[in-house]
Amino acid sequence: MRNYLKHFINGEWVESTGTNTIDVINPATEEVIGRISDGTIEDLNRAVAAARAAFPSFSQTSKEERIELLNRIADEYEKRKDDIVEVVMQELGSPITISEKTHYNMGLSHFRQAAKELESFEFSERRGGALIRKEPIGVSGLITPWNFPTNQTSTKLASAFAAGCTVVLKPSEETPFAAIILAEIFEAAGVPKGVFNLVNGSGEVVGNGISSHPDIDFVSFTGSGAVGQKITENAAKTIKKVALELGGKSPLVILDDFDMVKAAQIAISNVVFNTGQVCVAASRTLVPKSKHDEFVEAVKAILPNIPYGDPQDKSNIFGPLVSEKQYNRVQGYIQKGIEEGATLVSGGPGKPEGLEKGYFVKPTVFTNVTNDMTIAQEEIFGPVMSIITYEDLDEAIEIANDTIYGLAGYVVGEDREKIEKVAMSIRAGSIRVNNAPPEMSAPFGGFKQSGIGREWGSYGIEEYLEVKSIVGIPS
Ligand code: NAD
Repeated sequence: MRNYLKHFINGEWVESTGTNTIDVINPATEEVIGRISDGTIEDLNRAVAAARAAFPSFSQTSKEERIELLNRIADEYEKRKDDIVEVVMQELGSPITISEKTHYNMGLSHFRQAAKELESFEFSERRGGALIRKEPIGVSGLITPWNFPTNQTSTKLASAFAAGCTVVLKPSEETPFAAIILAEIFEAAGVPKGVFNLVNGSGEVVGNGISSHPDIDFVSFTGSGAVGQKITENAAKTIKKVALELGGKSPLVILDDFDMVKAAQIAISNVVFNTGQVCVAASRTLVPKSKHDEFVEAVKAILPNIPYGDPQDKSNIFGPLVSEKQYNRVQGYIQKGIEEGATLVSGGPGKPEGLEKGYFVKPTVFTNVTNDMTIAQEEIFGPVMSIITYEDLDEAIEIANDTIYGLAGYVVGEDREKIEKVAMSIRAGSIRVNNAPPEMSAPFGGFKQSGIGREWGSYGIEEYLEVKSIVGIPS
């Protein structure tokens, strides 16, 4: 049992001022694997006070000192590899291979990348008679979800530290243990006291407390649109800057000149990745009408060979959904797809045979989906693909953009001109062509209701900076 009933405040593990606790469940076994404190407003106030007190000195550290700090953090992170891989497997249900290749590596890469970005980052410039300085925005409140417990915390923390900001982190109560390991890593790396503070607890109390706190200058949030809206409303009361990484309903446009077997492989591996619990998941697959049957045949041939199940089995590429709540939500959408008249190609309601314990779902593919159906408009956050056909490229682009979201877009094809046309026309923050690997120095974030602001690399650091112009300094 992992019992972490303390918060990390001002460089120390301290008792919560409350007595309530939250159980953390392993979604593959449905067993309680540990407990965290259900933090109180008093706990949060202590953490904010510590972050405020540490700000004047940390904000004055040199770029070189912060590069060193970020690299020390990355070194300590590497030493905790086995723990991180195991904890993400247990709390999220991520298969051990993905836990290592994706979750462990992404967390690490943000600290290394931020150190690298700082090398060439200019915090001041001259424009005419003005000196323009980029200064840390202040105490930053970070609120993270459960689907990438290392990546989402690390990208925010690495950018905040690189900018010279002090922070209060509230990780998801569903996957809090990876963040606790991060706190231990920061302790070992010598992060000055008060620079990093961790308060565990619920969104209703600690999360809400962060967005409305008068002594927090900036809130960076990743999660659902509904909560993003509440955070923005709360933050408005103290004119707090807010960065939001919200949901998506991203299109994958398959061009008619592309091999349909390869296209099906890319589409399936994208939509089952992290059991579909990915904000940039390509959950709408746009297929040329003339290639529909060929594509569906390829999907049918590939799907039965996708290994999934027990996260401890190295051959599995996806595990259960994170929670019973998420299981019920995904089941609801599968049911809705059937009711609205989409055709099931594979999968469907209920648990897969042999995986009755744990929050496992069948990888599910619908075809004959129209873009106005609920399953084509709402974020499902599960391994569910909707196939939508198109007549020509203009129609494909129109369907791709017919969504409230704009987080990501995908295109696979051979013809460079057509690829460019689709990539330039999709209104989304990141576009991936022919399954190219992600670029850690490139910005990550959304258009439209997918969010405000950018993370990763130098764009991520910019979010934690204010811009000041000074004129008239005597020479
Ligand atoms: P959520 O938005 O409910 O929770 C995310 C974080 O916000 C958690 O730490 C939570 O405790 C906190 N929170 C909850 N209420 C809050 C409030 N009123 N004020 C401040 N913080 C609050 O997301 P979830 O329950 O983890 O997932 C629900 C849905 O959100 C998913 O099904 C998915 O659609 C979406 N989601 C999107 C992303 C993404 O990366 N874009 C990530 C996770 C979840």
